[in-house]
Amino acid sequence: CGVFGAIGVSNAANFVALGLHALQHRGQEAGGIVTYCPDLGFQSDRRMGYVRDNFTSREVMEKLPGTIGIGHVRYSTAGAKGQTAIRDVQPFFGEFSLGGAAIAHNGNLTNAAALRRELVERGSIFQSSSDSECIIHLMARSMGRTIPDRMEDALRKCEGAFSVVAMTRTKLLGCRDPLGMRPLVLGKVGDGWALASETCALDIIGADFVREIEPGEMVVISAEKGVESFFPFRARASRFCIFEHVYFSRPDSIIGGRSVYETREAIGRELAKEAPVDADIVCPVPDSGTPAAIGYSLQSGIPYAMGIIRNQYMGRTFIEPSEQIRNMGVRLKLNVNRALVRGKRVILVDDSVVRGTTSRKIKEMILEAGAKEVHFRIASPPTAWPCFYGVDTPERGKLLAATMNEEEMREWIGVDSLKFISLDGLYRAVGELNGRDPMRPRYCDACFSGDYPVAPADMLEQGFKM
Ligand code: 5GP
Ligand code: SF4
Ligand code: MG
Repeated sequence: CGVFGAIGVSNAANFVALGLHALQHRGQEAGGIVTYCPDLGFQSDRRMGYVRDNFTSREVMEKLPGTIGIGHVRYSTAGAKGQTAIRDVQPFFGEFSLGGAAIAHNGNLTNAAALRRELVERGSIFQSSSDSECIIHLMARSMGRTIPDRMEDALRKCEGAFSVVAMTRTKLLGCRDPLGMRPLVLGKVGDGWALASETCALDIIGADFVREIEPGEMVVISAEKGVESFFPFRARASRFCIFEHVYFSRPDSIIGGRSVYETREAIGRELAKEAPVDADIVCPVPDSGTPAAIGYSLQSGIPYAMGIIRNQYMGRTFIEPSEQIRNMGVRLKLNVNRALVRGKRVILVDDSVVRGTTSRKIKEMILEAGAKEVHFRIASPPTAWPCFYGVDTPERGKLLAATMNEEEMREWIGVDSLKFISLDGLYRAVGELNGRDPMRPRYCDACFSGDYPVAPADMLEQGFKM
């Protein structure tokens, strides 16, 4: 998901809508905006579909007045899969003592089922099936004397991944979980401030990127005091999601002082060093494989070619929740540039193999178009474990790499060769020159390694075996 907040700007909703539009790649199912103005109180609008189709008309935007606002773009992970109900769309907003608050959450709480059970037993009335709603109920029940105190209190009870943007009547709040699994950045816009999942959302509103919110940091932003910073959690070594670098973030965003594009190009270079092959052209599986394919081409000296063309008007396939639509999606979205691949030995670079269905279909299309050989090169290690921290991966049994080794996967996809970047290679490419330190890994890489930095308590309870 993507989160955004703005304070101290006229018409905050316009900034939020633009910010969310720039974060649309993080969630395409639904979006929502909450604002506050003294005359009307909190106003909220949540809708299914793209930001550009929902939050552009004057009619909608006029009903979201105020100088403070937050927003969320949603893609569903755990919970009510398939059909997002409007009641599951964030931000969640609640009136309680001290004036009420709204929150938008990116990530996934690993103890949400347990928290919900407890809250329901004590009388909380849930509106949605979302893990994130726990946070607002915990805030409402907290004995904290201010809303920021209550948010601190609430988030100390939460486990898992959370980058949260929240608002009171007068303050904008932001917080990252102690491991800093999901991103969150701070920007300055005129006399006001913005919080966003990624820096690309600051660029679109002309805000200056100030810094990343630190893992475990909470910021409280108000007109009187500016940005105040707190560290409410026990300090721990951070574990940012390495898959943000590979796939999830936008290539023009800055993470850890480097553009995601540069990191992806470095991943492609590393892949070319680890898994060279004699071929005529390097083609990305667009768009997610493009920067890595450029890196592979630069490193290997094999010419880059746009052998597959993407229809820009389809969304990201994996964000469509139903498997049937996803299977259709490959052909709706991608087409082979026949003139380029006919008679050629083709290297295809993609970011990841999850179920393997995309790779298999693309191979078919490329061979149909007359390619002589097809070699897959993948910019991440085999995805063998599900993510419980906010990225939508299917259950373990549906992951190709959970049941097959590399040779079996090659055979199943039906290509001349298949190679994945090693986990050490991926760490080197993201800037860890010595690779992955198994005693103290710097990133979350659980979907590749099975090393879960936070025990997925709810899933273990349901019988998941680590
Ligand atoms: P597959 O067909 O192997 O499941 O899909 C892999 C391709 O689609 C990759 O190019 C990746 O960009 C995208 N993708 C499809 N489904 C998922 C998913 O559930 N999780 C992630 N992380 N990527 C996916
Ligand atoms: Fe990211 Fe994978 Fe960890 Fe999920 S399991 S947070 S996708 S690295
Ligand atoms: Mg892809």
